[in-house]
Amino acid sequence: MDFEITQEQKMLVETAGDFAKNEFAPVAQELDRKEEYPMDIWKKASELGLIGAWIPEEYGGAGVGFFGNALITEQFAKIDLGISLIVAGTFGCEAIYWGGTEEQKKKYLPLVAQGKAISAGAFTEPDAGTDVAGARTRAVKDGNDYVINGSKMFITNGNVCKFMIALAITNPENEKKYSKHSLIIVESDRPGVTINKIHGKMGVRASNTSDISFEDVRVPRENLVGAKEGLGFYQAMQFFDTTRIMVSAQGVGLAQGALDKSIEYVKERKAFGAPIASFQITQQKIAEMAIRIEAARNLVYKSAHYLDKGEVDPILNAITKYYAGETAVFCANYAVELHGGYGYIDEYDVQRYYRDAKILQIYEGTKEAEVLTIARRLLA
Ligand SMILES: Cc1cc2nc3c(=O)[nH]c(=O)nc-3n(C[C@H](O)[C@H](O)[C@H](O)COP(=O)(O)OP(=O)(O)OC[C@H]3O[C@@H](n4cnc5c(N)ncnc54)[C@H](O)[C@@H]3O)c2cc1C
Repeated sequence: MDFEITQEQKMLVETAGDFAKNEFAPVAQELDRKEEYPMDIWKKASELGLIGAWIPEEYGGAGVGFFGNALITEQFAKIDLGISLIVAGTFGCEAIYWGGTEEQKKKYLPLVAQGKAISAGAFTEPDAGTDVAGARTRAVKDGNDYVINGSKMFITNGNVCKFMIALAITNPENEKKYSKHSLIIVESDRPGVTINKIHGKMGVRASNTSDISFEDVRVPRENLVGAKEGLGFYQAMQFFDTTRIMVSAQGVGLAQGALDKSIEYVKERKAFGAPIASFQITQQKIAEMAIRIEAARNLVYKSAHYLDKGEVDPILNAITKYYAGETAVFCANYAVELHGGYGYIDEYDVQRYYRDAKILQIYEGTKEAEVLTIARRLLA
């Protein structure tokens, strides 16, 4: 196993890191306060080839693989998780990449990679999140179309996306719970699609989160992801196996950002006539953060490495997602504690890290869902 990253990957880290420092840092807190989506940053990132960089060159992307994308994501999340979600996210496109037809890949992936469209992945419903196969949205065949009815909840990029990949029941007659659904590409401007922004999130407030309803939405049959119906649940799982690693990279980035800010602060802040960095309890916290980050980063790199080889290990992925989320929450908590009262004030970034970190234990599979995956597979 080679632990070295290539010269090309080092340059990628530098480009993404500089971009985040220059573009995210000055506006992150303001966007968080206003719940404002940074469309200009998204545009600039796409001009630099940083959006959907994992997408292969033949489909218009930079072709850096999922490992390269994890490196970019980590650099972005180090500065701000909310903006990194927007800029690093290619929601739903991973499902087209793994399960779509060649025509679909050629049509949709370049749109996202080249900054011509934003995508969304619409799986969660008001009554079904962890229970993915409990999704009740229906897509009924009618001539050469599907007619879709139902609703989706908490969809990232809902209000800004040009198209979304939606999970819907196409085969209710199938007796197997996991073979009733399909993934369908739905353009957001189709009649019958209603999208509402959800306000008041605890964290990642610059990112857009929406609820979506479908009322007799007509899409052509060719929008079915892949050539066959009934594969939607499995395609969704394959999608999550990819995006969980990117979410884990977000966790490592956020945790590293919290550590960096803490190191800077404890060296400057004095109490009892000495920098607080000189106190053993402070040192313990700094060291513990570093230990966990290093372990989480190694998990992310290992999982991303296997993902690029096409060898997905669901147990490893679940361990990675679980541990990276825990690490982010743990480090953001210590960062606030090390900042004392200032850590509680929105002039300091660490309070935002603290609020943002929690989502990493909720979306793309809750931490409980990861535990279930690990335990069920080990005990099967
Ligand atoms: C900011 C944000 C962005 C999001 N973006 C997207 C998106 O782009 N696309 C999308 O489709 N979804 C998105 N989601 C939804 C997210 O993935 C779900 O909220 C998450 O999967 C949990 O589903 P739920 O909210 O229905 O909770 P539930 O499934 O109702 O879970 C509630 C609690 O019960 C636990 N639980 C559930 N089942 C079990 C079980 N069998 N055993 C033990 N415990 C269990 C859960 O772990 C959790 O603690 C987003 C959510 C947020 C908040």
